[in-house]
Amino acid sequence: MELIESFITNNPCYQANLRRADSRYAVFQTRGPLGLMLHSVGCAQPRAEVFRKKWDNAAYDRASVHAVIDANSGTVFQTLPWNFRAWHCGGSGNDTHVGVELCESAAIRYDTGANFTVLDRKTALADCARTYQAAVELFAFLCGKYGLDPKSAICSHREGGKRGIASGHVDPEHYWTGLGAPYSMEGFRSDVAKALAATPQAGPLYRVQVGAFRNRAYAEAYLRQVQTHFPEAFLKTETS
Ligand SMILES: [Zn+2]
Repeated sequence: MELIESFITNNPCYQANLRRADSRYAVFQTRGPLGLMLHSVGCAQPRAEVFRKKWDNAAYDRASVHAVIDANSGTVFQTLPWNFRAWHCGGSGNDTHVGVELCESAAIRYDTGANFTVLDRKTALADCARTYQAAVELFAFLCGKYGLDPKSAICSHREGGKRGIASGHVDPEHYWTGLGAPYSMEGFRSDVAKALAATPQAGPLYRVQVGAFRNRAYAEAYLRQVQTHFPEAFLKTETS
């Protein structure tokens, strides 16, 4: 899985997280996600960068997600820190779930609502497979990172709507069904569980350090600087 960290720092949601606009943001940031929600974009736009650019705008106050997966390359663009509260599902799922969008193939054409015509099935299935595989790897990584059980912690936007924690959308299942692709949410959860089981949970841990100070005030000032680019950075005190 190739992951590019490319935060949408101009999006009002990012800013609301930075200033911890209300307790929902503070809680999500401290606790981390309790679940993961899978979406697809609902238009024939395979390029993640198009969405990233649109969202990275102070005037775009309608939505934000944690990551968007490019259908041409399978590259994951992380658009928010995983422990930020996003605006991806139009319901209380925003308080608990990370939201990830799959881009959809350019080899389809939307007609009305969620109905589309497949223009080139072979290409569309290959584009779909790329995002599916990357999503399996990403969700396995996130389940490992936050100690989540794939079987209970993962849902689609559609399932979230049925459960009353998201708006009534049909993604991403409508995309898979419309393409005749061999995917389902049950299958997705099971593929993530398999990928998670195959991930080594022990072994060396690689930390990235950017500074060390004897003077706590200097350390805190430096941390604030680092956090403007990497909000997940934190101060760790070692005594020696
Ligand atoms: Zn959705």
